[in-house]
Amino acid sequence: MPAARARATPDLIDQILALDPGRRAIAALARPGAAAAAARALLRARRALIVTGFTVEPETHETDGPPGAAVLGRALRALGADVRYVTDQVNVPLLEAVLDALGEPADVSVYPDGDGAARAVLAATRPTHLVAIERPGRNRAGDYLNMRGESIAAWNAPVDDLFMRRSRATTIGIGDGGNEIGMGAARATFARLGRLEARIASVVRVDHLVVAGVSNWGGYGVVAALSRLAGRELLHTPDVERRMIEACVAAGASDGVTRRREPTVDGLPLEVHAAVVELLRWAARSGIIRA
Ligand code: ZN
Ligand code: ZN
Repeated sequence: MPAARARATPDLIDQILALDPGRRAIAALARPGAAAAAARALLRARRALIVTGFTVEPETHETDGPPGAAVLGRALRALGADVRYVTDQVNVPLLEAVLDALGEPADVSVYPDGDGAARAVLAATRPTHLVAIERPGRNRAGDYLNMRGESIAAWNAPVDDLFMRRSRATTIGIGDGGNEIGMGAARATFARLGRLEARIASVVRVDHLVVAGVSNWGGYGVVAALSRLAGRELLHTPDVERRMIEACVAAGASDGVTRRREPTVDGLPLEVHAAVVELLRWAARSGIIRA
C-alpha cells in the first residue's frame, strides 16, 4: 500500500474508537495510533495497577469503565503481568462481577482515605504501569465534575493523585468525556469546545491517552492492538460482553447517561457493545493475517 494512502486512511481500530454515538467531538480528541502506542507501552508490563469506577450521582455507578478495565487486565495477565485493581468501595462489587463473568481472579482493593493514600498505594504495589479507564480526573479548580457540570467529589476518591505523583510507572488514560484521568493531555482542544467543556476538563495528564466514543471501547481497542502485537487473540467475545454488562448491572451499576439501572452503557443497548467487540476482533485479526 502506498505510504500516502496509509496515512489518509486511519487504521480500523482507530476508526472504531472514533465512533461518536454521544456526539462528544471524539474525532477532535482522538489521535490515530493512540491505541497502538498504548499497547506497545503495555506489552511488557510487569506490574499493572488499573483504576476505574465513576459515580455520577449518589448510588449511581457507571456501567462504563469496569468492563473495559477487566478486559484490559485479563489481556495483561495473559501476557504475564501481575494485575491489580483499585477503586472506591462502592465500585468493588461491580468490578468483581465483571471479572467473574470473564473468569478472572479479582484482586480489587479500595483506595484508602487520607493524604498519604497515593504514596501508600504506590509503595505497596510498585506498578510499572498505571492505567485509568473512565475514572474522574480533577479540573483546574481541583474539583471533579460530571458531564452535567455537577461536583461529584463527595462520591469519588481522589484516585487521580496516583497519576499526579512523580513515579516511575508509565501512565495510560482512557476516556470519552474530557473529565477523566488522562484528558489533561487533550485539555486545550477539549476546553475550546464550549463553556461546560472548559469547566469539566480534567488537567490530569498521562503518557498515553486513548479517547473513544465509549471508554470501554477504548479499553477493548487497546486489547485489539495488543492482540496484533502478541499475535494472539486477547479480546473477549460478544457473548461474554453481554454477560459482563448484565453482571455489572446485577451488582448495582447504572447507565451513566440515562442513569437507569439497566444493561446499557452510555445509553447504548447491549447489542451495540457486542457488535463493537465483534468489529474489534475483526480489526485485531486483520492486523495479523495479511491478504
Ligand atoms: Zn466518561
Ligand atoms: Zn462513557
